[in-house]
Amino acid sequence: MFFDPFYFLFAIPGMLLGFWAQNKVKSTFNKYAKVRTSRNMTGAQVARALLDAYGLHNVNVERVAGQLSDHYDPRGKVLRLSESVHDSPSVAAAGVAAHEMGHALQDAEGYSMLRLRGAMVPAVKASGALGPIMMMAGFAASSFIGGNIGMLLMYVGIAVFAMSAVFAVVTLPVEFDASKRAKKLLLAEGIMEKDEIKGVDKVLDAAAWTYMAAAIQAVGTVIYYIWRMNRRR
Ligand SMILES: [Zn+2]
Repeated sequence: MFFDPFYFLFAIPGMLLGFWAQNKVKSTFNKYAKVRTSRNMTGAQVARALLDAYGLHNVNVERVAGQLSDHYDPRGKVLRLSESVHDSPSVAAAGVAAHEMGHALQDAEGYSMLRLRGAMVPAVKASGALGPIMMMAGFAASSFIGGNIGMLLMYVGIAVFAMSAVFAVVTLPVEFDASKRAKKLLLAEGIMEKDEIKGVDKVLDAAAWTYMAAAIQAVGTVIYYIWRMNRRR
């Protein structure tokens, strides 16, 4: 009774875009992982050089397991780079390392969107499993018991989904800004030549689409549940 083919109508655009973007990231990264930079610096060296150039000596660079698992940890002040970024002197590695450095700079400057996003993390994590449960309980309660308890549960469920959607949308400016900074940093610090930056552009653009897809999917889910709730009335 909980399966609804209409769900796919709302979810499919984001899902398709997500699949496409994931593939695009992998293929673009792999392509530019084979292109060496003229300065021949590994991702770790690029990150260290940029961090030091901006006085962020307290931020450590570490190697982390996995593929495309690169991230900046604002709590621990650690820039974690995956193996294929950390140890590779490629255009792709330099681009990803500089992007993560962009996040470290956002953190150092107290960039508002990063702060907002960080403040939302605990609530989004805690409520991750709650939304679907609330919705299910809400639909069940409203059909078996009927009335206010069901509606209340559905409202709570929608609020939880809405929070995840806002989180996904707030992530967009944070990611776009980090990529913009990355390209500027690589040029300004002389780590890359102007004609090399094209590859960085392509890798970071592909990554940006994965965040777009996640946001579209999250917003689509909220719209679906609001639509479904209205349909029941
Ligand atoms: Zn990022």
